[in-house]
Amino acid sequence: MITNMKHIKKELTDKNIKPTYQRLCILEYLHDNLVHPTVDMIYNKLVDRIPTMSKTTVYNTLKIFSENNIVNEITITGTETRYDTNCKSHQHFLCKKCKKIYDINITYQDSEIINKDIFGHKVQEIHGYFKGICKQCLENDKIKD
Ligand SMILES: [Zn+2]
Ligand SMILES: [Zn+2]
Repeated sequence: MITNMKHIKKELTDKNIKPTYQRLCILEYLHDNLVHPTVDMIYNKLVDRIPTMSKTTVYNTLKIFSENNIVNEITITGTETRYDTNCKSHQHFLCKKCKKIYDINITYQDSEIINKDIFGHKVQEIHGYFKGICKQCLENDKIKD
């Protein structure tokens, strides 16, 4: 267990969310696995530990988390929703091979883009995504060659 349970509990109670055992486990999993998992990935990992849990519970829990800004929903694959606990402004890199989504922090020179007009729009945050082959898959390919 990498993330402190007390800290997770506080994160929920601070937002007036009842810290049930299932909710705590789901949030802990999200904090410990920063690959932006899907409902299925979370369910498959936790069902052994919590046999009474259903996929609907996972889905509903994530809905509550998302409404309370505990997680962000990401839809960059176009086919599935992925969940992110990093709520700071950042970018994503989707590996086309292993489908992992990595957080990327590109430091823009704030003065250059933030609070400037771009095509008449005022930019306040930058979100975005990149697609390609991740460093781990590149490494695996090298070993095969
Ligand atoms: Zn990859
Ligand atoms: Zn992210």
